[in-house]
Amino acid sequence: MSEKNTNKKKQKARKALRLIILIIFLLFSTAIGLLHQYGKNWIPVGVDALCPFGGIESAYALITSGEMLPRIALSSFILLGAIVIIAVIFRRSFCGNVCALGTLQELFGRLGRLIFKKRPVMPSGIDKPLRYLKYLVLLAIVVFSAIYATLIIRPFDPWAAYHHLLSPELFSEFLVGFFILAASLLLSVVFDRFFCKYLCPMGGFLGIISKIGLFKVKRNKGTCIDCMACNKACPVNIPVQSLEKVTTAECIQCMECINSCPVKNTLYNEGPSKKRISPTLLIGISVLIFAAVVGSTTLTGTFKWGEVSIEEGLKKTGELDPDTITGRNTFRQVSELSGIPKEAFIERFGLSGDEFDAPIRESAHKEGSTFDTDDVKEFVREKMQR
Ligand code: SF4
Ligand code: SF4
Repeated sequence: MSEKNTNKKKQKARKALRLIILIIFLLFSTAIGLLHQYGKNWIPVGVDALCPFGGIESAYALITSGEMLPRIALSSFILLGAIVIIAVIFRRSFCGNVCALGTLQELFGRLGRLIFKKRPVMPSGIDKPLRYLKYLVLLAIVVFSAIYATLIIRPFDPWAAYHHLLSPELFSEFLVGFFILAASLLLSVVFDRFFCKYLCPMGGFLGIISKIGLFKVKRNKGTCIDCMACNKACPVNIPVQSLEKVTTAECIQCMECINSCPVKNTLYNEGPSKKRISPTLLIGISVLIFAAVVGSTTLTGTFKWGEVSIEEGLKKTGELDPDTITGRNTFRQVSELSGIPKEAFIERFGLSGDEFDAPIRESAHKEGSTFDTDDVKEFVREKMQR
């Protein structure tokens, strides 16, 4: 006999708690992005240095040359380490319970559930092959990043575009990324977590690791009443009701199925030695691992949140470090601190007198510009080596 779940309130509270956690991560990440663009007293590092995927893109360069790709910092590797630890234990719990891009899509998905009574399901003939696309994207990025030693994904990255929504770089550097972001969010209104399911290379990477993940959703078919509530709740369309164990790399451990099942102890998350873990504890431990890794490395000074200004870099080493140049610096500042004459900048970048005194990003991102801030860094690096 199946035992009706008497804890609907508890399930609702768990769902609400998860949503609150997701929104906190999204707001935190958004605030960091805004401070990077508009901060005055303290400027955090850019989105690339705070993206775990940067660790994957930069791994080849680090192994072969001992150097990270431009814009990537140790923080990317630390974040990557944290989510790999989470994936080994709780599979893709990072995707389901931490990732801010996933949250954005989920919020649009919730809007869709309000608008449409019955949302369409992607036909399986299209859905199945599309799911492999994220692995292809992952492979292409790893290979091309290794060949070209640059952040090849940057212009296409919807998360980088999100962090530049209010910046002049949006249309000059992130136009494609912006379209991917807009399309993914709009499509998520109809098909939950569209980008996660089909395109996210990080999801592909974590999906591969999740195959050895310790905890999995399981179903007691003896007590299941085939109500399909789990299938309906699953944002990545896993047919939980027809499985005994959710082993697919698609599961993002969001716990929505468990928190929707009306029969007690029918769906649960189980790990080694048949140890069960409650949905709240699973999400809590995932967040704790993430916070502990980031927190401890912040305390030791390995994880750097703040950008090193051009002046601070100069103070430390006695000469200008081209990597500390940002779009906020003016050409005049760079010229004075590097000793490279004004005329060299004017000639190389075709600047007017006003542009020489304005932040680099203003001329780098005006329509028709033939250079960006990275070109200025490269120019300074070359000149200083001579
Ligand atoms: S199977 Fe359950 S835990 Fe996995 S993604 Fe679907 S709803 Fe979330
Ligand atoms: S929610 Fe899923 S597992 Fe739970 S009773 Fe309904 S069909 Fe069975």
